[in-house]
Amino acid sequence: MSVRGSVAPAAVAIALLAGCTPAAGDAGAATPVFVPASPSKSAAAAPEPRPEKITYPAQGAEAFTAAEGEPAGERQGTLLRYRVLVEKDIKGISAGTFADAVRTTLADPRGWTAGGDLSFRRVGRGRPHDFTVYLVTPGTRDVLCQDAGDGYTSCRNGDKVVLNVARWANGVPGYRAGLRVYRQYLVNHEVGHRLGHGHELCPGKGRPAPVMQQQTLGMHGCTPNSWPYRDGERYAGASGAYEDEVPPREGASKP
Ligand SMILES: [Zn+2]
Repeated sequence: MSVRGSVAPAAVAIALLAGCTPAAGDAGAATPVFVPASPSKSAAAAPEPRPEKITYPAQGAEAFTAAEGEPAGERQGTLLRYRVLVEKDIKGISAGTFADAVRTTLADPRGWTAGGDLSFRRVGRGRPHDFTVYLVTPGTRDVLCQDAGDGYTSCRNGDKVVLNVARWANGVPGYRAGLRVYRQYLVNHEVGHRLGHGHELCPGKGRPAPVMQQQTLGMHGCTPNSWPYRDGERYAGASGAYEDEVPPREGASKP
């Protein structure tokens, strides 16, 4: 993987290709904040639970199971209510299990709430909500994302945070931190778009990748990082995107 880090002049087109359309108000995410790099042995050494065997067709029927809501808890700043919907054609992971993983990531002290101005609460079926986190088949990903339709990446489209089950189940080749970290990255990256953050660049070889870097497509010399806050400080890179090629769609899960 190249570490030269050339910035795509047509970043918007690339973002569309990557299925990670930045929010309209990306300017709000433009202030780079750099934290000194530190060795990240913990990420590489994190125990890797053998994940469920998740199976799915290439294209689901766009019918969903909703996770139940959670009780109102402590609240700070702006409350964002979200639903969790899992496409029914996906087998091997329940809506509740997926919702637990999303909640754990969103509630983490290194997550988006660390700034103290934001709270998340999952709501159940039929409740008012600010956004929806989907786990969907590659084909339904294309329907919901309404972009170039690569069947490979995940995306955020308006109030839809769309996670591609092919990535949730398999991660990406060469991601050096394992599936647990990649899934945290996936949730935080796409929810980050919903919060108004655009794509960011690797700050330098050997540094942790900003969570808004498109780590699905290339690390560009950075190390895996799934969190928007590190050591209590907001960790971000300069705005921009790379001209990474999107791998081909994979279709249904392998038997
Ligand atoms: Zn993105």
